[in-house]
Amino acid sequence: MALELTICKTENPKPLPTDESKLGFGRVFSDHMFVMDWDKDVGWHDAKIVPYGNLSISPASTVLHYGAEIFEGLKAYRNVNGQIVLFRPDQNFARMNRSADRMGLPELPVDFVLDALKQLVRLDADWVPHSEGTSMYVRPFTFGDDEHLGVHGAAHARFLIILSPSGSYYPNGMAPVDIMIEDEDVRAVRGGTGEAKCGGNYGASIRAGIRAEEKGYAQVLWLDGVERRYIEEVGAMNIMFKINGKICTPMLNGSILPGITRKSILEWLRANGEEPEERRISVDELIEAAENGTLEEAWGCGTAAVVSPV
Ligand SMILES: *Cc1c(COP(=O)(O)O)cnc(C)c1O
Repeated sequence: MALELTICKTENPKPLPTDESKLGFGRVFSDHMFVMDWDKDVGWHDAKIVPYGNLSISPASTVLHYGAEIFEGLKAYRNVNGQIVLFRPDQNFARMNRSADRMGLPELPVDFVLDALKQLVRLDADWVPHSEGTSMYVRPFTFGDDEHLGVHGAAHARFLIILSPSGSYYPNGMAPVDIMIEDEDVRAVRGGTGEAKCGGNYGASIRAGIRAEEKGYAQVLWLDGVERRYIEEVGAMNIMFKINGKICTPMLNGSILPGITRKSILEWLRANGEEPEERRISVDELIEAAENGTLEEAWGCGTAAVVSPV
């Protein structure tokens, strides 16, 4: 059965945000969303764009009990000509299928959802903000939705895309963020789900985030889960440093989320004659470099955080 997209437009469009400087991150949602269902026997079906609104879900749904959820984050921007452009969305859906594989959730028909995303953004084009530093954050996600408390691979799942016009991820914009090195909790271990973009990774990171916030830090810097010695990432962004004139970033090791911003920056640097290193970076090396003055720069990179100086 071929997938078809039906579109049901809202009869009650919401007022557009009037003050784009107050958008913040992920609080405002556009008029429409994309929804599609999956059943083990039928595959993906009932693809539709509908008015943005609440879902009806069984209290026994798999996602509510066992964290069967994966997501993506990308942005639609207005370019200098006022056209709306998406940043490498094919990369996001490819990664989403790798996350799906790791989490036992169904993979997406990439060409179909890419087209659906474009139609959704076109329909809600007025919601893409105009001011410098703003964008439309796009959040695709899949969750397991069996009405069954037994633990096993989902036989039913839902995939959605919601849109959120957003400003800066960090309230202070491009001002450097303070990051706390976390040496107690760990985010992920090799063989676990650190490489998958799944909600569960965030669940495990909240406590450290709360502690960091209480001490005045924006987020935590995660160390490897075994020796708690090597730098991994920041949780919503990958991390890069310039030490003694050389740009370096932790190499992908199975527990770090392979960021598309990270990859794009490395590609751009290499195309511009730089030789960034992907390697193990210990927290001792970093502290030593900070103390002896060779740590020249530190920044995080991710779709939501863009490039944020640390
Ligand atoms: C999404 C995410 C990033 C950044 O990835 P991008 O593809 O650049 O947005 C980094 N770390 C984690 C844990 C993430 O979930």
